[in-house]
Amino acid sequence: MKTAVKMFSLALCLALSLCAASAQQAAPQHGIAVSHMDTSINPGDDFFRYTNGEWLKTTELPADRGRIGVFSALDDLSNKRVVGIIEELSKSDAKPGSNDRKIADLYNSYMDEKAIEDAGIKPLQAQLDAIRAIKDKHQLARALGGTLRADVDALNNTNFHTPNLFGLWVAPAFHDSAHYAPYLLQGGLVLPDREFYLATSEHMAGVRAKYQAHVANILKLAGFDEAEARAKRIVELEHSIAEKHISLAENDDIHKADNTWKQADFAKKAPGLEWREYFRAAGLEKQASFIVWQPTAFAGESALVASVPLDTWKDWLAFHLIEQYAGVLPKAFADERFAFFGQTLSGTPQQRPRWQRGVGVVNGVLGDAVGQIYAQRYFSPEAKAQAQAMVSNIIDAFRKRIDGLTWMAPATKAEAKAKLDTLYIGYPETWRDYSALEVKPADIVGNLQRASLFEYHHEVSRLGSTVDKKEWSMTPQTVNAVNLPLQNALSFPAAILQPPFFDAAAPAAANYGAIGSIIGHEISHTFDTEGSTFDSKGALRNWWTKEDLDHFGVATKKLAEQYSSYKPFPDLAVNGEQTLAENIADVAGISAAYDGYHASLAGHPAPVQDGFSGDQQFFIAFGQNWASKTREASLRQQVLTDGHSPAEYRAATVRNIDAWYASFGVEQGRKLYLAPADRVRIW
Ligand SMILES: [Zn+2]
Repeated sequence: MKTAVKMFSLALCLALSLCAASAQQAAPQHGIAVSHMDTSINPGDDFFRYTNGEWLKTTELPADRGRIGVFSALDDLSNKRVVGIIEELSKSDAKPGSNDRKIADLYNSYMDEKAIEDAGIKPLQAQLDAIRAIKDKHQLARALGGTLRADVDALNNTNFHTPNLFGLWVAPAFHDSAHYAPYLLQGGLVLPDREFYLATSEHMAGVRAKYQAHVANILKLAGFDEAEARAKRIVELEHSIAEKHISLAENDDIHKADNTWKQADFAKKAPGLEWREYFRAAGLEKQASFIVWQPTAFAGESALVASVPLDTWKDWLAFHLIEQYAGVLPKAFADERFAFFGQTLSGTPQQRPRWQRGVGVVNGVLGDAVGQIYAQRYFSPEAKAQAQAMVSNIIDAFRKRIDGLTWMAPATKAEAKAKLDTLYIGYPETWRDYSALEVKPADIVGNLQRASLFEYHHEVSRLGSTVDKKEWSMTPQTVNAVNLPLQNALSFPAAILQPPFFDAAAPAAANYGAIGSIIGHEISHTFDTEGSTFDSKGALRNWWTKEDLDHFGVATKKLAEQYSSYKPFPDLAVNGEQTLAENIADVAGISAAYDGYHASLAGHPAPVQDGFSGDQQFFIAFGQNWASKTREASLRQQVLTDGHSPAEYRAATVRNIDAWYASFGVEQGRKLYLAPADRVRIW
């Protein structure tokens, strides 16, 4: 299963732009976008193109996007609003040290290309000199420890990638959900996942060759001699690290992640790296124990620290440092970085306008400071109340579904219902304190380095302290939704609660089909294979009976097979295991939203729109959530690294819902037709 949670991982930094137009068209329509449909296609053959065919024909992927869709259109809107806020603050001459001033200074330091050009590689020079001066593996351990950052997240925003040797995630402990504990995760790769190093396809071999050239180019720009030879050794080392990593699908097995190591255990269980020195440099020498997510990777990577020559590790450190900041170094570095990551890896011909990237930087560093203003301005108490009512309705539907399950034991049902408790809508009640973060004008590299250290110190300072149950993990301006399993909470930020997902003036059918199915999706993560491992207090405890789990295993296996049969490319199929949790959540979400929709009608007939019945509108709105266009390279990357299936297959999951067949008269012989016994029913 793909961990919980986050619903649209790629949605965030993906695509956008032209599509803003379509979002703005969708708003005044209030309901399904009939003009986006291609009704010449039979809904039973291809529901994605039936609901989005015209949109697909008339929408062009802008040169600076790897993907566009409904999510990216809303991202665009959110970005435009945020840049509006930032520009106002820039002109306001805010008090030094205030959040407003920090927002303005950070954004301007990103936008100041002249200062960046003038500084050259200087902002990193002291660190590069320090790496060059490393004399032995003892000092190497110290340097590696100094790179540890709070840059991964196993269960909330689900991010298993860090280019540093390891990554830290601070979250409620598996067996003591009232207190924060340190989780350590595998790392050390620049490419997005181990598959990029290990997959044998011709396509991937080509990507690797270009990656090695990219490493050499970056080293050359930074003035290294023998750049090609160094690049070859760096990529070989990363390849060796990738061999030690476990896969994304394995990362989702939480029981395998439940490994508490005392600090002294590391030397025995993962010999090679001088752990005492590593933890001292990371400021964690007093931390008694850690939860090690991937023990085999820790053993393997640590052994590589011992066996691989020091000079290779020094080059690896230097390259990883430069690569991490290449986007804010002089144009030659930034262009080289984009040529590989944007063009080769994502197939995007052109870079986003600088202001959009600047907004991303500000959201990443000072997200709550911006979010506070955003929420005030763009999320009314009325919208919050309406969204809340809708979520409550869908939760009620879920409770009824749980009651009606014939396969689930009564004790399991009771615990399941107890889990439907905490909800965050719109924006948090308290905001992050940025007073300890120093932001300087015209120093973007320094600002980003201080920000990542500020974040790290913040997380480390919480270790052992009482968990803040009201903490959010997403800013209000984020177009996404998330389930936080260790807090037992769901959050729906303000920015996703707007048209076309949610429109107070739209028929209930469209709102329930669109945002309702997303809400249902997130709720269902509370009960899926991951949810089943955390009880109503958020503790790691299997609260399902064995029979319950067995039934769930059989039902979900069918769904995994269904998705593994989808082939976006002749040489690449969807991985039904890797995407299982998200696919389950889609089936569950649409089922609960459908019930919630019917409950909201309270026996009244549904209004017909453009000849479509209420139920048809519900399913069409669901299909239109997934309107998107993706470049081949981006789509390939998604299939390999994302827990979410490609959009067109997410839309096709209506084939598991009985009511869909009745709504559109889909009969045997149609491409999406499944016999009743083959439809996957989980909740
Ligand atoms: Zn999800």
